[in-house]
Amino acid sequence: MNFADFYKESIDNPQAFWAEEAKLIDWHTPFAQVLDYSNAPFAKWFIGGQTNLCYNAVDRWVATQGDAAALIAISTETNSEKVYSFRELQTEINRMAAIMLSLGVGKGDRVLIYMPMIAEAAIAMLACARIGAIHSVVFGGFASHSLAMRIDDAQPKLIVSADAGSRGGKAVPYKPLLDAAIDLAGAKPAHVLLIDRGLVPMTSVAGRDVDYATLRAQHLDAQVPVTWLESNESSYILYTSGTTGKPKGVQRDVGGYAVALASSMKHIYCGNAGEAYFSTSDIGWVVGHSYIVYGPLIAGMATIMYEGLPISPDAGIWWSIVEKYKVTRMFSAPTAVRVLKKQPPEFMKKYDLSSLKALYLAGEPLDETTSTWISTELGVPIIDNYWQTETGWPILSIVKGVEDKPTRLGSPGLPVYGYNVRILNESTGQDCGPNEKGVVVIEGPLPPGCMQTVYGDDKRFVSTYWTKIDGRQTYSTFDWGIRDADGYYFILGRTDDVINVAGHRLGTREIEESISSHANVSEVAVVGVEDQIKGQVAVAFVVLKHAEVAATQEGRKAQEKEIMGVVDSQLGAVARPARVVFVNALPKTRSGKLLRRSIQAVCEGRDPGDLTTIEDPISLQRIKEALVI
Ligand code: AMP
Repeated sequence: MNFADFYKESIDNPQAFWAEEAKLIDWHTPFAQVLDYSNAPFAKWFIGGQTNLCYNAVDRWVATQGDAAALIAISTETNSEKVYSFRELQTEINRMAAIMLSLGVGKGDRVLIYMPMIAEAAIAMLACARIGAIHSVVFGGFASHSLAMRIDDAQPKLIVSADAGSRGGKAVPYKPLLDAAIDLAGAKPAHVLLIDRGLVPMTSVAGRDVDYATLRAQHLDAQVPVTWLESNESSYILYTSGTTGKPKGVQRDVGGYAVALASSMKHIYCGNAGEAYFSTSDIGWVVGHSYIVYGPLIAGMATIMYEGLPISPDAGIWWSIVEKYKVTRMFSAPTAVRVLKKQPPEFMKKYDLSSLKALYLAGEPLDETTSTWISTELGVPIIDNYWQTETGWPILSIVKGVEDKPTRLGSPGLPVYGYNVRILNESTGQDCGPNEKGVVVIEGPLPPGCMQTVYGDDKRFVSTYWTKIDGRQTYSTFDWGIRDADGYYFILGRTDDVINVAGHRLGTREIEESISSHANVSEVAVVGVEDQIKGQVAVAFVVLKHAEVAATQEGRKAQEKEIMGVVDSQLGAVARPARVVFVNALPKTRSGKLLRRSIQAVCEGRDPGDLTTIEDPISLQRIKEALVI
């Protein structure tokens, strides 16, 4: 079948289309109805069907390929490498599930997972899925304030964590941040299950903290039956930044997600059971959920979890992994490729990469230089794919498994089946013509696998994302885009205040709120500024209460360091601005709205645009001057 027909069928006849795709997973009870969109924009998929993500990822493969590799956990930080077969993984999940049950966790309870990239993190996620608990994985780079907000929102009964992560050979303690977060949070977990890696000493809170190794030893032979879940029950929450200071809990279902992953692994990532798959992302991000843990395993592939830097012990580390495990499909981010591009190319040439069929890149715009460089070096197709935490799987890509259509430099490709993508003019709401810039939207219903709602806040889900256009519910991606005359899409950046640093999504408001808590900060604006390696970096413009402390170069440096320290301790180093620039005033409209886009334009040396509503034009000029100090 050609892709155009495949795509058309998915849009014109979603019921029949997805009923067919649903055969890619195992159902305990067949579904009675494919789609219920009577309560638009809330879409329900595979109603009445019962299934389980852990069963599809692990148990169903034990019978046919129990001894094949399932999870390969490699750490160049602790120099460890462990391969779990599907059978061994199932055993470990059973143990972890039994521990969770013994700690009172049951179906529908939330479990927060705050972990480094170690096997137990994936095991904990899969154990939650097995018993129907809802996991909320929080990226290990987030600090106590970010963590506390997520604890308060999800109210987890249990938190699973570890003594420390490790970066560049240095232990990064998790436990003190976690303790501080629990102190800050209103909601208190009954228990904290701790994996002691022996990296740093931990203090234990009596009655609350429990040791994983001790409990595991008590449950070595545990057999925990799979809890079958109705397709529309929830599997997990994953927080993502938006335009407010409060991150949104993206809530996902079970059946629709399993089908979307099985389907995308087949048609987009073209992975086959028994092959090895390597995604360099982190379990704290959506890529980690969909295409480190669940997707590859659902496809019967071995999935590689990597803890370490891409250039340590040397820039050949990823390629040595590809060679050793005969990786067929690899998934990374443009930033990582730009980092590798700065390294001598012989590291790539040292290894036999003949197993590799394609490299998938996502998370941020893929520039032509980076794409051309890596495709030449590797000699395999580079597949850009565009999607969001909200959708859980690609919106735009080349669907190679259906038809190997040519890629186009700078473009993630065509709308993926199931997504009715359009580009709308921001002011008129009308469809844009070819090469005309507009907002990328998706006409509802969203396909299986996409977010069900904002956790605990249906209203926020509707008001944030959905608009009725010509009587039809339409989802905004908050991205600018254009479509060329051949239907290829190009993504041109966010329409809102979200920035993308090295493929990590950060809300400028969150960073601003954190900086504002510094005693000497009167006002602050954070904008994303173009960066050669990371795509974008955050730059903070601060008006101080006592400006005299920043009168000298040393004063400015000290104040900048202090402010960065506040962000580090509250949100985590991942959100730390690259620069803090001190100014006397921030450019605002007469109605007091911050002119972020103009500040950003000035930072990037572009025209700041229409400034007729600016209250104090000098303030923008001052920003320009402050940047060069
Ligand atoms: P996240 O939810 O963290 O995955 O971030 C999603 C956002 O990252 C999107 O809304 C885009 O702004 C950006 N993004 C993701 N993938 C791509 C891509 N392939 N090309 C351009 N931008 C992308």
